[in-house]
Amino acid sequence: MFADRAKVYVRSGKGGDGHVSFRREKYVPNGGPDGGDGGHGGDVIFEVDEGLNTLIDFRHIRKYKAEDGQEGGKKNCRGKDGNDIIIKVPEGTVIKEAESGQVITDMSGENKRVILLKGGKGGNGNQHYATSTMQAPKYAQPGQPAQELELLLELKVIADVGLVGFPNVGKSTFLSRVTNAKPKIANYHFTTLNPNLGVVDLDGTKGFVIADIPGLIEGASEGVGLGYEFLRHIERTKVIIHIVDAAGTEGRDPIEDIYAINKELEAYNPDIAKRPQVIAANKIDAMYTDEEGKNAVEAIKAEFEPKGIEVYPISAVSGEGLKALLYKVNEMLENIGEEPTVFEQEYFPEQKKGYSDEPYTVEYDEEEDEYVVEGPRIEKMLGYTNLESEKGFTFFQNFLKDTGILDELEALGIQEGDTVRMYGLSFDYYK
Ligand code: GDP
Ligand code: MG
Repeated sequence: MFADRAKVYVRSGKGGDGHVSFRREKYVPNGGPDGGDGGHGGDVIFEVDEGLNTLIDFRHIRKYKAEDGQEGGKKNCRGKDGNDIIIKVPEGTVIKEAESGQVITDMSGENKRVILLKGGKGGNGNQHYATSTMQAPKYAQPGQPAQELELLLELKVIADVGLVGFPNVGKSTFLSRVTNAKPKIANYHFTTLNPNLGVVDLDGTKGFVIADIPGLIEGASEGVGLGYEFLRHIERTKVIIHIVDAAGTEGRDPIEDIYAINKELEAYNPDIAKRPQVIAANKIDAMYTDEEGKNAVEAIKAEFEPKGIEVYPISAVSGEGLKALLYKVNEMLENIGEEPTVFEQEYFPEQKKGYSDEPYTVEYDEEEDEYVVEGPRIEKMLGYTNLESEKGFTFFQNFLKDTGILDELEALGIQEGDTVRMYGLSFDYYK
């Protein structure tokens, strides 16, 4: 089955933790720190593969994980970086955040490769934390966490022209006649479940791509029937060809059909209904004409030409009228110009850092003659840090340094021996 939608889970690699170790050399009893850095986690990358035209692979594999970075080692040994995961998608795939449905990126046009999620950075080994007061740091930085996202992939066919019409009006026959496409042609409804694409090769033109948008029926825009699924494919088309059955082989009224379909398009997306349209009155080889020369084509013309929609009588079977229609469509496309619809980014995956991004304040409390550091970021850090352990306390010190809190205290004029208060904990400040 043709798959044009898929839900997948992606996860970047976690950064490897920095390592804690100390040099061991002959005659040097207490060597300096030599813990290596952790490797970086792999990225989640999306790439366009020109050879793909469905999202079928995503029906089978729904989880995509990049590799974690490895932990740093002894002797300043850096952990190996995790491999990226490269996910191949067909051109025209729109990647959305699954829950909100917001667009993250649209894999069309020049956009052929996207780093969707960055891997976590590797943590620094303890070699980085030696200071004049701390010669043997037992702390190493943990690697940054992995990031994960649930994604909705949607394939929106990139075609210049969309074919719309009720079942059995001859869309597939038309497509197979004027393009290289080989769609199924049959006399029953919903035979075509794929949006078939075909390239029109027209002398003296660049050619263009037509998509057969099958199964458009009344109520499609409300999700009834198959139509709704396929309406997505029409979003990027620039010109719409309405095909109607001028021979009325199924007792349909072509004029009502055009109105019904335009109503569906309008309800689905008013922009689509505004695109230039042309009507192809098909099956003229089987059309009934009365003694006065009146027929369905006349009636359709009388109805729509005053509204600025041109009507072309054709026979997809005999080939009559096809050239004139195709040249007209080509001319319409040339007047519109090149720019395809590209969906704008609405959702920005958060690039998480090692520490939380929440606020904190650094203040001087004159009454108590103490410095006060407070805020959700501090609270959070204290919540997961065990200050009783040496490792935890070192982490705490590094946190104060890395986040710039020490600098802020200095800026407020803190002196050796002054007191710093944090949520009921008091510390004496020493450089
Ligand atoms: P679709 O459902 O719109 O894709 O319609 P199809 O292309 O599958 O055609 C439905 C039926 O109409 C088939 O039996 C075709 O052979 C027939 N048909 C299509 N175009 C013409 C035409 O120009 N003249 C005649 N007489 N029959 C046609
Ligand atoms: Mg068909």
